Amino acid sequence: MRKPIIAGNWKMFKTVSEAVSFFSEVKGAAEVDGVESVICAPYTTLPALVEAAKGTSIAIGAQNLHFEDNGAFTGEISGVMLSDLGVKYVIVGHSERRAYFAETDEIVGKKVHAAFKHGLTPILCVGEKLEEREAGETKNVCKVQTEAAFQGLSAEQAAQVVIAYEPIWAIGTGKSSTSEDAEDVIAYIREVVKGLYDASVADAVRIQYGGSVKPNNVREYLSQSNIDGALVGGASLEPASYISLVEGA
Ligand code: PEP
Repeated sequence: MRKPIIAGNWKMFKTVSEAVSFFSEVKGAAEVDGVESVICAPYTTLPALVEAAKGTSIAIGAQNLHFEDNGAFTGEISGVMLSDLGVKYVIVGHSERRAYFAETDEIVGKKVHAAFKHGLTPILCVGEKLEEREAGETKNVCKVQTEAAFQGLSAEQAAQVVIAYEPIWAIGTGKSSTSEDAEDVIAYIREVVKGLYDASVADAVRIQYGGSVKPNNVREYLSQSNIDGALVGGASLEPASYISLVEGA
């Protein structure tokens, strides 16, 4: 049985005091038996959030990491630094990083390895652009991105990866994929993982849907047999909305 996982992606929102205030409101309420609750927050807020999350079941995640442990990479943050803080998850290969920060499949793969090296669980984002969808390329894009990111991972590591299938045209647009379409692509991604490893790894991997998930549609996605949770941007920013997402799972 795969445990559903709701992960908020705050992107570049919230100061430290806003993050701490959010956390004090969701603590307790966004802790639901049988659901994993994760908040992926800006770097500056992570020490305060990790501290606030002590003794709760809410895990704290980062939104990116560099693949090297340290070095002359001005402005970057490494897995060593994140695990030293007590961060548990890290988003890797979000479409905004691929689009605005030139992250290639190769870089994403290195980041997945860096996450495991430092005991962080990667939330690996894959998904197609609108033109790729219209060209019938959705599954192929997801296959290529998944295979590149899993390259060189042991079966034990592969089983721990959380994949977030995020059609890019659905992120922050209010246009969500239908739950049936998302299920179809996610079932296919699970087949890709099976092809790389075996059925037991494919059955263990958790695959989220992401793209305009809201409290009023989260349940519909999670009712699909292959969808194990959601990666949520906009609707994770307000405490009441985040609580509803976790309850809805
Ligand atoms: C995201 O940032 O990964 C995301 C899915 O955003 P939104 O929920 O706002 O579409």
